Amino acid sequence: MTSTKPLTSWIDGSGYTYVHEHLHVDLSGGKNDIDCRLDQYDLICQEMRELFALGVRNIVEMTNRYMGRKADFLQALMRDSGMNIIASTGYYQQAFYPAHLAQLSAAQIAAEMCSEIEQGIDGTAMKAGVIAEIGSSRGKITDDERRVFAAAALAHQQTGRPISTHTTLSTMGFEQLRLLQSFGVAAEHIVIGHCDLTDNLDTILPILDQGAWVQFDTIGKNSYYPDSKRVAMLRAIADRKQLGQVMLSMDITRRSHLKANGGIGFAYLLNTFVPMLLEAGLSQRDVDLMLRDNPARFFN
Ligand SMILES: [Zn+2]
Repeated sequence: MTSTKPLTSWIDGSGYTYVHEHLHVDLSGGKNDIDCRLDQYDLICQEMRELFALGVRNIVEMTNRYMGRKADFLQALMRDSGMNIIASTGYYQQAFYPAHLAQLSAAQIAAEMCSEIEQGIDGTAMKAGVIAEIGSSRGKITDDERRVFAAAALAHQQTGRPISTHTTLSTMGFEQLRLLQSFGVAAEHIVIGHCDLTDNLDTILPILDQGAWVQFDTIGKNSYYPDSKRVAMLRAIADRKQLGQVMLSMDITRRSHLKANGGIGFAYLLNTFVPMLLEAGLSQRDVDLMLRDNPARFFN
């Protein structure tokens, strides 16, 4: 399967979107574990073809500079699988920042983000479509992280591109939202990531009430938090009629997550988790909203 689709940093709204994934990522240094270098082209391409056949048209790829981003790898995947891939610009979180970040001002960081959005990434024609994943540490937002958030706000204001965050173990999500709002970013352009790693409705509901978005983007990570509880939280959000602000993904980051390596694979969300949602009383309309219509609205 090949595609002649032009390179785009926009969502194809005709199909589903996984909003928080990594197709080429390398956190093996920081984590001292080779499993955290996800780079097996043929296996990933095969999974993208499988997802395409299931109706997925877009992957929002969250890997930014210093996380092992590789634009030519992503371009090849688009060519060979037909999947549209949205690339990211940003800095991840304190534990993974390069040493020189401490010397950069918010304006300097923002200029780099704008360049990757407007000119392209690492000399390629691929442009970043989202400011992501920008994160905070567990239970706190460090000074450096605060400066990256300020930069993200500046880059958003200059380019109009949305902001997608990383929370560590679902902590500080509401604080991230308030911080970005304090820098003048409207809630509708912010999605808080990794909201589904703990019993978290206490944080999620205030975020939704502010008009921002939340991601249930670690679906299938049952060792952190069981999918049955993710379903229960989504059921509660559905009862409040706020699924229009929720998006879904799996955050696959390791070789061992791929199906050929014994993992659950990217198709798990559609083949296993969606049936759980339907079983719990959500409708196909609800599923289409979270996987198709919401991403198109947020990212375009
Ligand atoms: Zn993350």
